[in-house]
Amino acid sequence: MQDKCGIVGAYSNKKTSNISRQIYYSLYSLQHRGQESAGISTHNGEVMSTHRGMGLVCDVFNNGNIEGMDGYVGIGHVRYSTTGKSLIENSQPFVSEFESGKIAIAHNGDIINSMELRKDLECKGYKFKSSTDSEVLCHLMTIEYSKTGDMVQAIQQVSKKLIGSYSLVILVNNDLLVVRDPIGIKPLSMGKMDGMTLVASETVAFDVVGAKYVRDVEPGEILVINDEIKSFKMPTDGNVPRAHCMFEYVYFARPDSILDGRNVYDVRLKIGKTLSQEHGVDADVVMPVPDSAITAAIGYSRESGLPYGEGLIKNRYIGRTFIMPTQEERETSVKLKMNPIKSELQGKRIVLVDDSVVRGTTSKALVDVLREAGAEEIHLRVGCPPIVSPCYYGIAMATKKELIASDKDVEEIRKTLGVDSLGYLSLDSLVKCIGIKRNELCTGCLTCEYPTSLPENIEEYEANRC
Ligand code: SF4
Repeated sequence: MQDKCGIVGAYSNKKTSNISRQIYYSLYSLQHRGQESAGISTHNGEVMSTHRGMGLVCDVFNNGNIEGMDGYVGIGHVRYSTTGKSLIENSQPFVSEFESGKIAIAHNGDIINSMELRKDLECKGYKFKSSTDSEVLCHLMTIEYSKTGDMVQAIQQVSKKLIGSYSLVILVNNDLLVVRDPIGIKPLSMGKMDGMTLVASETVAFDVVGAKYVRDVEPGEILVINDEIKSFKMPTDGNVPRAHCMFEYVYFARPDSILDGRNVYDVRLKIGKTLSQEHGVDADVVMPVPDSAITAAIGYSRESGLPYGEGLIKNRYIGRTFIMPTQEERETSVKLKMNPIKSELQGKRIVLVDDSVVRGTTSKALVDVLREAGAEEIHLRVGCPPIVSPCYYGIAMATKKELIASDKDVEEIRKTLGVDSLGYLSLDSLVKCIGIKRNELCTGCLTCEYPTSLPENIEEYEANRC
């Protein structure tokens, strides 16, 4: 699974400062949220500078282009595509000229109805340079802005048309605006340091530059950040419940981040402890699928009293499995990524802890690797309930028919994966571990109960996305 993107916005009261380096470091700490492209836009009060490129943050930026980006206010983006192909035109920030200057947008999320909105704009004569929903947002906002000259009003009007998830940082000339969708699916936090305000997808982006986490951007909040910070609300139909993505806590976010006031590391420890209570087993050692399940495996080990060990070593310098076009190649890529430590595995009864099981192909390949290395028993424990339905809010998982749990019960999955026992964390326990009320979490991929309406022709929509 891949998350769609990470975003950063920064404003310095010191008009002489160059903020691009802080944005660069913050993007570096959000690299896990997207590795396809990276970009920064800054403004110095007179001109906007933008640099974007394909690849990792360290591939796209160097001292020369960072120092060349003058400005005390700016935004940044790392991308993994779920809407639009992996092309430089689709990298962000997306920049457009309009009658009052330039607008740059960086977006984390997916606008479910962006195809209809785009068709509507095309019928009105608007031209598109990319295939992203961020460009659709850009057009809609400049159209509304041209009516009133007020960007907050423009965002409020545009928000009435949008279905989906969106955390946004927007540079309108030298004004920084920050937007979080009315149900807060994607995370967005605010930090401060020495005359500077930062916003970012995760608080790790503040730690790296020495900023302090102040608070989360509220769902449905619009912030205008300059020498002072003004907060506005989006128009909503009554009391819209929040729907924070539960998967940020289970897998996507870094464990050293704080999301909506919850320490991700603590949530994952609790997940491991609760898994041990729900699915205890007689075994010799607890091992994680590295890296994302390490914290949950530590929790399981502490609760069960079983020793924690490492049985798989991850090669961190390998490409991601999604680039492998065939099933056979995807399975090979697992072996490239994970190598077993035979001496730790031979003759052992292992509790293998993973954060989630999506297609099941990676889990099956890992089980085969562990068996070949001599593991006697493998008891798989999974840190969330079965994923039975796709995500429509910016997480590239799989189509419904590719999800192993979409048409199999737990016993059938156990047999398919070839493990001795299989235990998933229950939904009630997951909600308790996260510490957010059930009705304030999105659990759509676990329950098929999504917090927004979905496209009418869901199969066609899925086929175009995946
Ligand atoms: S459907 Fe699943 S992955 Fe997508 S936002 Fe909801 S909880 Fe997160």
